Amino acid sequence: MARPVIAIVGRPNVGKSTIFNRVVGDRLAIVEDKPGVTRDRLYSPGEWNGRAFSIVDTGGIEIDGEDEIMKSVRMQAELAIEEADVIIFMCDAKSGVTHADDEVAQMLFRSHKPVVLAVNKVDNQGRMDEIYEFYGLGFGTPIAVSGSHGLGIGDMLDAAIEKLPEIEDDGYDDDVIRVALIGRPNVGKSSLVNALLGEERVIVSNVAGTTRDAIDTPFERDGQKYVLIDTAGMRKRGKVYESTEKYSVMRALKAIERADVVLVLINGEEGIIEQDKHIAGYAHEAGKASIFVVNKWDVVDKDDKTMQEFTQTIRDHFLFMTYAPIVYLSAKTKQRLHKLLPVVNHVSEQHAMRIQTHLLNDVVSDAVAYNPPPTDKGKRLKINYVTQVATKPPTIVIFVNNPEMMHFSYERYLENKIRAAFDFEGTPVRLFTRKKS
Ligand code: GDP
Ligand code: GDP
Repeated sequence: MARPVIAIVGRPNVGKSTIFNRVVGDRLAIVEDKPGVTRDRLYSPGEWNGRAFSIVDTGGIEIDGEDEIMKSVRMQAELAIEEADVIIFMCDAKSGVTHADDEVAQMLFRSHKPVVLAVNKVDNQGRMDEIYEFYGLGFGTPIAVSGSHGLGIGDMLDAAIEKLPEIEDDGYDDDVIRVALIGRPNVGKSSLVNALLGEERVIVSNVAGTTRDAIDTPFERDGQKYVLIDTAGMRKRGKVYESTEKYSVMRALKAIERADVVLVLINGEEGIIEQDKHIAGYAHEAGKASIFVVNKWDVVDKDDKTMQEFTQTIRDHFLFMTYAPIVYLSAKTKQRLHKLLPVVNHVSEQHAMRIQTHLLNDVVSDAVAYNPPPTDKGKRLKINYVTQVATKPPTIVIFVNNPEMMHFSYERYLENKIRAAFDFEGTPVRLFTRKKS
């Protein structure tokens, strides 16, 4: 299911990134032990009161060539209006309502998007008086927050969740594999879509997503139905800001949320860039199956070691996604193109796979017998029982005597043993440790 997107909008220095970090704080801490996942993220999955969402700090999205502050804030607001389901409009109690706030307010107001007005830097009760002038912006009662002190964040999220739309069905049957093509501009996303469809010649139709922005292209091959979610198509529709490549990040995020399988396109000619990592990291965290597709392989000078070396480079850059297969191809010449869909089918199956409890327990018992959990102050972690509680991605709960004794390295050891036994190629596997009740 696609998570709705909450965007934080506001002028510089009101505290957007401080609030963003408050909302995703715990998760960032978890991510830090995983090498390769960058910390300075602008978007993150989040959850509040049982409702999952993605949150985006639009302030962190740099606009190339836009040094004029107001222009850049305006564009960020425009982006959020296009892409977000709920907008948190952040202002600053210390500076009061500024002209820039007024301007953003007018844009948001005209958009009819749900808006939560938050006034930051209300660090103590004494500052509560300062929020009244913000009523004038026209978004009802302002919610007082303090990013520095962590105050009011729950109220702000309550208000945002309340305004989220109901989760809507995307209209495709469950057996359709939803494939998102993600990658920086010019990596060859459109070319790959065309190459895939050209080869099939069974284009059903080219419909715009019902209520969404994506250009979805359904097609069928060998009895399997697919829908390609093409962010390139979205970008090319020609809004002003779409000339800016950094904006494609938020588009990518929306497409990933809707996908089962994410094709992370990498330019074989130019190698890996930071943005590739951000995007792949998001697909991982969102629990999607992923495949690295190295495109433009036709123009790479190759010898018998080139593919092996490129593979090693990908593995070095994406340490957290060793499960993702790599396909080398050329969308232009269609060289090796036929290899792609079978891999898509395979990882999609693995993503949806459910392992019987007794098989899972056999594997974990063997793993524990072979390499028992370490002891801590004379006590030993005891694993009682393991069971898969969800698919897409496979999610496994490990019931133990004392969850605090489960170490990241031991969890990783178990994951490796589980993968060795059941494959799970292409999909993240989530492990949770819980106290046996
Ligand atoms: P952004 O540009 O909107 O992302 O703003 P930042 O999160 O970078 O914050 C701008 C400045 O405001 C930083 O110096 C923060 O330390 C400060 N700041 C953020 N939240 C608060 C707050 O709740 N109270 C106070 N007093 N300062 C804050
Ligand atoms: P997008 O922005 O990711 O959708 O990229 P496009 O599909 O528009 O491709 C950008 C450019 O790269 C175009 O000039 C394509 O012809 C070229 N291109 C795409 N795939 C390949 C490929 O496999 N090999 C070569 N040599 N060029 C390619």
